Amino acid sequence: MNPFTYTRPADAAAAIHEAAHAGARYLGGGTNLVDLMREGVERPAALVDVTGLDRTITELPDGGLRIGAAISNTALAADRRVRTRYPMLTRAIVAGASAQIRNMATLGGNLLQRTRCLYFYDDAARCNKRQPGSGCDALEGFNRMHAILGASDACVATHPSDLCVALAALDATVHLEGADGKRALPFEALHRLPGDTPERETELRPGELITAIELPALPMARRSTYRKVRDRASYAFALVSVAAALEIEDGTIKDVRVALGGVAHKPWRARTVEALLRGQQPSEEVFRRASAGELSSARPLRDNGFKVELARRTIVAVLSQLAGGRP
Ligand SMILES: Cc1cc2nc3c(=O)[nH]c(=O)nc-3n(C[C@H](O)[C@H](O)[C@H](O)COP(=O)(O)OP(=O)(O)OC[C@H]3O[C@@H](n4cnc5c(N)ncnc54)[C@H](O)[C@@H]3O)c2cc1C
Ligand code: SF4
Repeated sequence: MNPFTYTRPADAAAAIHEAAHAGARYLGGGTNLVDLMREGVERPAALVDVTGLDRTITELPDGGLRIGAAISNTALAADRRVRTRYPMLTRAIVAGASAQIRNMATLGGNLLQRTRCLYFYDDAARCNKRQPGSGCDALEGFNRMHAILGASDACVATHPSDLCVALAALDATVHLEGADGKRALPFEALHRLPGDTPERETELRPGELITAIELPALPMARRSTYRKVRDRASYAFALVSVAAALEIEDGTIKDVRVALGGVAHKPWRARTVEALLRGQQPSEEVFRRASAGELSSARPLRDNGFKVELARRTIVAVLSQLAGGRP
């Protein structure tokens, strides 16, 4: 049993003050952090419960939305503005976990949930993320769920979130507050690739609190979707997922957004697909070439070679669906 203190501050300033204590961690719905505490992977000395902070959704002057980080996944997915303006986000959220977990889980916690690599949870295994410098048992072990893009010899884990894949495609902004004041980060810059320091998963500074996410006004996102391919129809993490939006004008692709989940240490913005598609006439062949371009840098492991073809095909299927006017 590891003793820890528990506080539930009423505002962000008080939460940041509490989190300045050594070993403190913010607590959202606890659906990931408490599991990790039970497994002994996380041993916080203090839990600072942030579920009482901002959970509102407010309109921005330019037509975007600002979403308080304490909102539950369920409330965010159900919001009518989110459902109509950013359908890929609602679809991504409801593709994740179970209704009970989504009721508890917060937006801030979803962003910072840890990998589902089995060796990370097993303290008998070598894991550079859990214990830097110890090695990585996934490299030669069971690595069917692991990364095919952007991995390193130090870590081949994937980021497990569905919601984050949609935020990457939508060019969201993350609002942060800490001892040094407030700042904003493009969502794509929040999570890191593993490199030599897989224990550093984000660009957050110590004690920094995620206060809100902003979604830009993005009319093309009304024609967007999210598809998750997994081993079971529910309650399973993505083998591969695709969030995409497509804007076609006069028979030509004017703009496109694509992000992938289940393939890398962070939500993977498919910039190559996007660059290869802009200005093209939509067709399955064009989508196939673009997806092959993105996956040309894939480095599969012993058990996950199937993900390369699966990712290619899922990109083509989702873009074809959107081009056909089927959300
Ligand atoms: C059985 C099961 C199945 C699941 N399936 C899926 C799935 O298919 N897809 C999917 O996307 N997710 C899935 N999840 C994960 C789930 O979505 C996450 O556990 C959840 O989103 C985390 O949110 P939380 O509020 O409970 O975070 P917590 O567990 O409370 O916290 C997670 C991390 O975020 C930090 N944190 C929380 N809030 C803030 C903040 N505002 N600022 C800074 N740091 C913060 C905490 O310190 C902690 O490190 C599953 C979980 C379970 C248990
Ligand atoms: S893949 Fe990453 S999280 Fe998994 S065992 Fe290796 S270092 Fe740890």
